[in-house]
Amino acid sequence: ACSGCVTSAETVMLEKQGLDEFMSTISKGKAVIVSVSPQSRASIAAHFGVSPLQAFKKLTRFFKSLGVRAIFDTSCSRDLTLVESCLEFITRYRQSQLIDDERSNSSLPMIASACPGWICYAEKKLGSFVLPYISSVKSPQQTIGTIIKRYVCQDMELRPEEVHHVTVMPCYDKKLEASRDDFVFQLEPHADGSEGEVNMISEVDSVLTTGEILELIQSKEVDFKSLEEAPLDKLLTNINDEGYLYGVRGSSGGYAETIFRYAAKTLFGRHIDGPLNFRNIRNSDFQEVTLEASRATSFVIIFISVLIPKSGFVEGETVLKFALCYGFRNLQNIVRKLKTGKYDYHFLEIMACPSGCLNGGGQIKPIPGQSAKQLSQLLESVYLENVLAADPFDNPIIKGLYDKWLEQPGSEKAKRYMHTQYHPIEKSVTSQLHNW
Ligand code: SF4
Repeated sequence: ACSGCVTSAETVMLEKQGLDEFMSTISKGKAVIVSVSPQSRASIAAHFGVSPLQAFKKLTRFFKSLGVRAIFDTSCSRDLTLVESCLEFITRYRQSQLIDDERSNSSLPMIASACPGWICYAEKKLGSFVLPYISSVKSPQQTIGTIIKRYVCQDMELRPEEVHHVTVMPCYDKKLEASRDDFVFQLEPHADGSEGEVNMISEVDSVLTTGEILELIQSKEVDFKSLEEAPLDKLLTNINDEGYLYGVRGSSGGYAETIFRYAAKTLFGRHIDGPLNFRNIRNSDFQEVTLEASRATSFVIIFISVLIPKSGFVEGETVLKFALCYGFRNLQNIVRKLKTGKYDYHFLEIMACPSGCLNGGGQIKPIPGQSAKQLSQLLESVYLENVLAADPFDNPIIKGLYDKWLEQPGSEKAKRYMHTQYHPIEKSVTSQLHNW
């Protein structure tokens, strides 16, 4: 599934992030915290024939029996990335509407940043022409890493250097993402002024794929299906008082859908109820959704034109055009359009794997007699089982993080902790890379 390339140093790092390291860290007595992605939860649920909620509770029982301190849910941190992404999009859109000499040429289209397969490809093969378009918001994996190591540790009465944070993800590229220098930070001194034993802290210490978790379950000879369900750790898990999981519906993060709704409401006063009308373009892995200006829109534009000095939109004009672009072939097509300037998109949700993260290369493989397509369809339906659709802006955990720590969406603090940057890799280095 991976579209990038790895250096030999990266290969060594990938090998280090495995089950042996996980088990030995637990046996050394470190406080291990595990964050599970919703795609991995669905893969385990489908494999064992249980619901995602049951899979999560059984995983919690399993990990705790090994000595893991807490198990969280990255659909919770994904809500924070979505809130920050909405704010970033509005800023970029308004910049794109400024008169020419004030406009930032690189403001749109904004491209989602959650897929390290795509980021790796963009940095190593495309360089500076595409990087300014990529959203600066960290992925849900790195966001939960930041929350745990910079904030939640205190709630658990732990120092960040005492915590080993492991994520469970649908792909191997997440291991590369976790090891980026951008996601390591300097430990702040103890309250008494002394430094910790280790002074560089990784947001995510190690990544295990869903397939590796299955391997672990099998190696411990656990009958997972009949394992007793444990209560979930609620601190960073999207579970409501009635015991239901909640979150956005998109199987690769719901970026396009969430930002589209928010932009339609914020920029054009249009509330969109019900599902968005995504249309297939060429294939089901390339879909578009648009919003056309209406009389109501024109009214709002008159109002916001104080902020965006453009003459306004003509009724029927496309004011928002978003696309989902999954899989390498579609990705290359969109890149060609970006290179030649032949595009009119405002937002692109680019994911390297066909069908997105549910189909990632680190997910559990089909069982004997099951085709890849059958498994993919099963995962699509299991993914949404027991999960209530919810607006990330209404997530009480995220509201609490802003109130107590980050101040407000798009604040300087949120920019400091929840955003990152990308780096073009020189051709001379690229030519030395091995194929991945
Ligand atoms: Fe990983 Fe998802 Fe990207 Fe595939 S689409 S490389 S699973 S992040």
